[in-house]
Amino acid sequence: MQFVSTRSPASPVSFREALLSGLAPDKGLYYPLDIPSLKPRMATFRDMDFIHIAEEMTAALLGDELPADLPRHAFPFSPRLVPLNAQISLLELFHGPTAAFKDFGASFLAQAFASFLNEPVIILTATSGDTGSAVASAFYGKENVQVVILYPSGGISRLQEQQIATYDDNITTLEIQGSFDDCQALVKQCFIDPALQQSLRLSSANSINIGRLLPQSFYYIFAASKMEEEFSFCVPSGNFGNLTAGILAWQWGMQAGKFLAATNANDVVPLFLEGKGFHPRSSIQTYANAMDVGNPSNFERLEAIAKGMRRPLAHFLHAMAISDKEILETIHRYHQERGVLLCPHTATGVLAAERYIARKDATHIVCLATADPGKFPETIQKATGATPALPSSMQHIMEKEKHSILMSADLSSLRQFLLQRYT
Ligand SMILES: *Cc1c(COP(=O)(O)O)cnc(C)c1O
Repeated sequence: MQFVSTRSPASPVSFREALLSGLAPDKGLYYPLDIPSLKPRMATFRDMDFIHIAEEMTAALLGDELPADLPRHAFPFSPRLVPLNAQISLLELFHGPTAAFKDFGASFLAQAFASFLNEPVIILTATSGDTGSAVASAFYGKENVQVVILYPSGGISRLQEQQIATYDDNITTLEIQGSFDDCQALVKQCFIDPALQQSLRLSSANSINIGRLLPQSFYYIFAASKMEEEFSFCVPSGNFGNLTAGILAWQWGMQAGKFLAATNANDVVPLFLEGKGFHPRSSIQTYANAMDVGNPSNFERLEAIAKGMRRPLAHFLHAMAISDKEILETIHRYHQERGVLLCPHTATGVLAAERYIARKDATHIVCLATADPGKFPETIQKATGATPALPSSMQHIMEKEKHSILMSADLSSLRQFLLQRYT
């Protein structure tokens, strides 16, 4: 499979190149040039478990570049498809080490990096919470890779900080005295800094990397292979990477109706699909904070893929925005009526799915459950009065020692640190 940038579709690159560079040189996002037809292959997946499906898909898409058993090493955890009520099923994606779906993309990316590298590389990444923990967990102990994670001091929860700042070995965390935007700007500056470019091999692992996106298609295909009735997918969305992975699977022949994207109050895409134009703006803080995105970076990729299918996005994608008040009410209602806890992100999806079904746009919905409710104790407490248990993989996290290095938000401090430590 070859990949092209959204901004220069005439110059295809290999998976290895797309993965190692992250962003294309023209600042566009990579997406698959080829549209394989995998419907017959997918028809054989009905009785297969997730790992076998992931292996089949890896072989079908990337067999010339990656070892067939890569998914076996990347995924010591699996998605689970469980009924929520008569019309909604949850695809639980939070049984990995950091209890959110980002573990799937990060783990596959880390294995692929390890299989491609024979010289040391430094992965620089800025995080506002979830991405950093998934990356740290996935790359921990991997050979030839050093990971440097920048996070805003005081800008993430204690639990999130413990999840990224307590690693040792090849994971280094920098607590930056600035905002998340400052962290992101610093990472960008490093990639164009001549002194760093000359001495170090830098790479990125952020959510726009195609190496994180592709494996996310596997759990959609897994869910679709187990469904006996017609259904559509509902995807709680922020940067729209997860949704894009589902659209790819659908393009390759996965049997599913339509896609419904649920957002929080950051409703740039729902407004666009209502015909009101695409108007990115600053993000608004909500209870579903991993979806607080005002300028969804994958939108450009989504549009390029839709164009390849010669169909307007609105033909197969609907979107709904859910308010903070509705998020709390939905968590409360499912807890009270069914004794089920939903994380704030999953709650946006479940409410959007209910409305979509009430409008008779679908008879059954598979809603992606993107995180374990135990990761959001304050919001769950506020909505239900109950305190959820921490995810089992995180039980002892609060007792661990923090190792992060405090640093001011300026390029010269960061440059000096990187050069001293890694040359
Ligand atoms: C990242 C994240 C999302 C949003 O996913 P996108 O791919 O950015 O749309 C939703 N829920 C949780 C829990 C997340 O961590």
